[in-house]
Amino acid sequence: MAEPAVHDVVILGAGSGGYAAALRAAQLGLDVALVEADKVGGTCLHRGCIPTKAMLHSAEVADQIRESAKYGVHSALGGIDMNGVNAFKNGVIDRLHKGLLGLVSGRGVRLVEGRGEVVSATQVKVGDQVIEGRQLVLATGSSPRSLPGVTIGRRVMTSDQALELDWAPTNPLVLGGGVIGLEFASLWASFGAKPTVVEALDHLAPNEDLAVSKLLERSFRKRGIGYKLGVKVAEVWQEDHQVSVRLENGEQLSGDVLLVAVGRGPNTGGAGLERVGLAMDRGFVPTDPQLRTNLPGVWAVGDIVPGLQLAHRGFAQGIAVAERLAGLSPAPLIESGIPRVTYCDPEIASVGLTEAAAKAEHGEDAIETVEYNLAGNGKSQVLGAQGFVKLVRLAGGPVLGVHMLGRRIGELVGEAQLIVNWEAYPEDVAELVHAHPTQDEAIGEAFLALAGKPLHAHA
Ligand SMILES: Cc1cc2nc3c(=O)[nH]c(=O)nc-3n(C[C@H](O)[C@H](O)[C@H](O)COP(=O)(O)OP(=O)(O)OC[C@H]3O[C@@H](n4cnc5c(N)ncnc54)[C@H](O)[C@@H]3O)c2cc1C
Repeated sequence: MAEPAVHDVVILGAGSGGYAAALRAAQLGLDVALVEADKVGGTCLHRGCIPTKAMLHSAEVADQIRESAKYGVHSALGGIDMNGVNAFKNGVIDRLHKGLLGLVSGRGVRLVEGRGEVVSATQVKVGDQVIEGRQLVLATGSSPRSLPGVTIGRRVMTSDQALELDWAPTNPLVLGGGVIGLEFASLWASFGAKPTVVEALDHLAPNEDLAVSKLLERSFRKRGIGYKLGVKVAEVWQEDHQVSVRLENGEQLSGDVLLVAVGRGPNTGGAGLERVGLAMDRGFVPTDPQLRTNLPGVWAVGDIVPGLQLAHRGFAQGIAVAERLAGLSPAPLIESGIPRVTYCDPEIASVGLTEAAAKAEHGEDAIETVEYNLAGNGKSQVLGAQGFVKLVRLAGGPVLGVHMLGRRIGELVGEAQLIVNWEAYPEDVAELVHAHPTQDEAIGEAFLALAGKPLHAHA
């Protein structure tokens, strides 16, 4: 079938944001061209969410073998075969990639392979072809950042190279105590390493509620994961068998690899965006709440839009833009209502405002909190999960935030996000029955406590 001269929509980048926009737009009857320089699925599928979670699952299996005698099952960990870990990880990616390609072609999306350059608000050039659309969606995503003076190569790496290692580091240094740094420190520790995390801010997981950060630090220390907080790296150098860093306080650390996990910058250079007059802020593309850029007919989704860099935010933004292009009116996304999970051990899951943010927004006296300790939860005891569920509530009003820490606690974020996004009152949630024994009951128990009628907790 001949391609139309002008598509309803051209999408630049087929990561979470771009492919979600393409699939939804095609579902709504629009004619879609999707331009991708590398692989459909983008960072999340090939270099982000999925490979890290596959490796973290291998890590959990290793830990369970180590702990098995505690459960009356005698087994011994023979070793970590990184080729086997990578084969498992790549198998998961390949299956999902094939499925995604099938969805894209099944919905009739025209996939254009190659690097696109925006030549006008309606045209993208790929090699010699010009792909034209009535609307253009920018979804070029993000790439790892480094620090000034820190060159990526050999033993100094970003998550992209760390995911491809065919050996397990023994004493890795991790620069950055945010999501990516914590996940790698955790999985390397499970593979037998003694990692050290260096974080410039005062706590690990610095964007989370302070109670979460503090208990995570204690848990990491127990697992043999070291950390240096509130200090920056001044210098990095490599020798044959190690990499070393000097911290600004003069301390020197050495390891077999240095993972630079200091954030991700937008992929907006070299795609012709400045030339067509697109407004940018430090490389990111600001949008209005409907995800329109400053150029009529040009939209942006995913990591290039300032805010949380998460795949499910990209999916939601891509779907919302597609629906707007098809004449629907989806509600704008509320950034604080987007759930966040860090899949280290113990896991962190949160949604809504932290206690500090809630107090800053509503006043010190307007906020009530409660923490339910997983020690009182039967399923947590079975799983060996330690941690808590913390609720942040507007006094006499709805729940503003839910913050959780504990093994497998990420699975609870679904209920937490409904509670926060539907602005539930603790009294309403306290009436709901939670299945026993599940870790989910900890959410129910926390709400019983906040409603003034704790069951498995001291009043
Ligand atoms: C190690 C790691 C772990 C992560 N874990 C999680 C997690 O557990 N959960 C979660 O929600 N998020 C996670 N993320 C974040 C998540 O991967 C991103 O938020 C998400 O991929 C962003 O989607 P996107 O569509 O904006 O961009 P991307 O996924 O980066 O996709 C952009 C696509 O555009 C293409 N492209 C760029 N420029 C051009 C061009 N000029 N022409 C054609 N194509 C182009 C790229 O090749 C790429 O495929 C993780 C990220 C990393 C790095």
